[in-house]
Amino acid sequence: MSPATEPASGAVLLDTFGRQAEDLRISLTDKCSLRCTYCMPAEGLAWLPAKAVLSDDEIIRLATVFLGLGVRTIRLTGGEPLVRAGVAGLVRRLAGLRPRPELSLTTNAISLADKAVELARSGLDRVNVSLDTLDREKFHNLTRRDRLADVLAGLEAAQQAGLRPIKVNAVLMREQNLAEAPQLLSWALRAGYQMRFIEHMPLDAEHLWTMAGMVTADEVLSVLGQSFQLRPVGHRGHAPAEEFEVLDGPGRAGWAPAPQGGYRVGIIASVSRPFCRDCDRLRLTADGQLRTCLFGHQETDLRAALRDGASDQELAELIRQAVRAKPAGHGINAPGFRQPERPMSAIGG
Ligand code: SAM
Ligand code: SF4
Repeated sequence: MSPATEPASGAVLLDTFGRQAEDLRISLTDKCSLRCTYCMPAEGLAWLPAKAVLSDDEIIRLATVFLGLGVRTIRLTGGEPLVRAGVAGLVRRLAGLRPRPELSLTTNAISLADKAVELARSGLDRVNVSLDTLDREKFHNLTRRDRLADVLAGLEAAQQAGLRPIKVNAVLMREQNLAEAPQLLSWALRAGYQMRFIEHMPLDAEHLWTMAGMVTADEVLSVLGQSFQLRPVGHRGHAPAEEFEVLDGPGRAGWAPAPQGGYRVGIIASVSRPFCRDCDRLRLTADGQLRTCLFGHQETDLRAALRDGASDQELAELIRQAVRAKPAGHGINAPGFRQPERPMSAIGG
């Protein structure tokens, strides 16, 4: 970054624990095309009314203020971000901001096959695709929709469009897909995707999560360790995934060419191995609430300020105050932990 585009000294977002917020997740909608059982109920949720959702202009205005405060990466998420109309247009506008943010998208990939090329041309850098199983019937049961073929087509289209690296995220559930973890990893190694396993978090709309029912990082590593030789990769910086190099495993000869840094698998263990100390993330919900912690109860209403005519400086001050109040950690393992009101799909994962 050239000195001319560096945020002014003192303008970066520091919290009281010395962490600097540089990564912003923007939720484009709380609606979704799937109904993953660990995320939301079959009938969906009480969706936000259209007028509550930030417009493209409002998102661009807020993104501009965040970039001026040192945010460097923006991830679009939801709900399912691709159910919002005009996402490529929004990506193009975000890519035109200076300093240009690195732009990524978290998606269930249901409609990615149709949109990957346009998104890449508009300036999207990479995608994270959520896929929990490669078995059609299991996919149908887990997501309550028979759409596995669409997801696989979306992944291929993303690869063709040059959106790299492609990370595939799976939430593992003991009875449903834990045993499939080695097959998922083998498949990803063959296809050239980076596989990551996510611990189920207490963010499901139906509050079905239990500590005892959750598959832990230790369990995932033990299942993978039966088939693969893994070696921990050192310090992960601000990344949520703890990475392991895959040194050997079944079907080695058929793996895609090794990426720089070798074959990798990641584990996102927010519950059993919290990484709050290195958290550099902020989240903006589809209705314009700034959250500094995925599991927190605190929100700052940027939409109200924006619609009341706040200046960029006033918005920046609100953001700074929110970041200063960021808690040290999420406290999931503390006795008084209370699940936030909003489920994951309404926060932006
Ligand atoms: N709909 C998009 C998707 O599924 O990729 C983006 C939003 S979704 C909320 C983002 C990620 O959160 C997905 O990888 C999903 O598997 C994960 N997720 C949803 N509910 C979760 C929960 N309770 N615990 C852990 N991960 C969850
Ligand atoms: Fe939709 Fe993503 Fe939640 Fe699945 S995890 S229901 S795809 S928001």
